Amino acid sequence: MKKSEGAYQLLFSDQLEEKGINPIELEENLRKALINEEFELYYQPQFSLTTNKIVGVEALVRWNHPVKGLISPVDFIPLAEETGLIIPLGHRILIEACKQLKIWIQEGHTFKVSVNVSSRQFHDATFVDMVRDVLNTYDVPPSLIELEVTESTTMHHVEEALAKLNALREIGVSIAIDDFGIEYSSLSYLQKFSIQTLKIDRSFIMGLDDHESNKAIVSAIHAMAKHLNLTIVAEGVETESQLAWLKELECEYAQGYYFSRPVPAGELKDYIDDMRTV
Ligand code: C2E
Ligand code: CA
Ligand code: CA
Ligand code: CA
Repeated sequence: MKKSEGAYQLLFSDQLEEKGINPIELEENLRKALINEEFELYYQPQFSLTTNKIVGVEALVRWNHPVKGLISPVDFIPLAEETGLIIPLGHRILIEACKQLKIWIQEGHTFKVSVNVSSRQFHDATFVDMVRDVLNTYDVPPSLIELEVTESTTMHHVEEALAKLNALREIGVSIAIDDFGIEYSSLSYLQKFSIQTLKIDRSFIMGLDDHESNKAIVSAIHAMAKHLNLTIVAEGVETESQLAWLKELECEYAQGYYFSRPVPAGELKDYIDDMRTV
């Protein structure tokens, strides 16, 4: 361990320490976990605030360690990125999400599945082909897959990102900008890239109850998105009053613990079947 030793230290969280996972073993553990298929997708529903129905779900990966239990993505995605393991892992995640979407479609439901894409994965030379292959193989309508990327992912090597986003649009998947508002938020950038959705970062929603300035920011993002014909999803809605304010703003979509935490596909079933209202 040469260069990455410091990074390993940084990436080693309290949760991993509590679970008795040694930082040096983490990478080896991750490799084994891929082979043993220990990764599982949880899904968090997204709701329309006008119809009160589920319009989509976000797939969020968990590491279901046979001995240590459930491990949060916050604790292994950074290392997976750093080691490049995010490439095979991201492939597996997209496959899983497509298989699950296929099941929902066969059950008569049509809603989008959003899949997170990390920077290293997006910039991998085979990314677009990988997406095309998986969608073909699992035979799901591209229009029901949304890829979530962050602003920094697209601002990194802008020309390359532009070409990739266009190629993804040609395949027919939609693109959401995740955690919107905390990084660049530049208007020209939004116009240049073919994206469909902005997910307003949780930090702004969290502060709605206490900080007037957050209301101003969310209102501004909402107004701007309307002009640019972009869909807005408010992330991390936790309280009734946050929801009430978003409805007043006529924000279209929301996601957060107020409605549901991320859950395994099986637990989402009741939710979808009775299309529980918000
Ligand atoms: P993210 O993409 O911004 O995902 C939203 C995170 O906020 C999720 O955490 C979700 O459980 C959490 N969340 C949702 N609603 C609320 C709420 O009302 N309150 C609070 N406090 N939190 C809420 P999670 O699942 O731990 O994921 C953390 C991050 O790990 C994600 O942030 C994403 O950056 C990354 N990640 C998760 N799954 C994947 C994946 O499949 N691929 C990649 N590349 N990254 C992933
Ligand atoms: Ca996300
Ligand atoms: Ca987010
Ligand atoms: Ca995030």
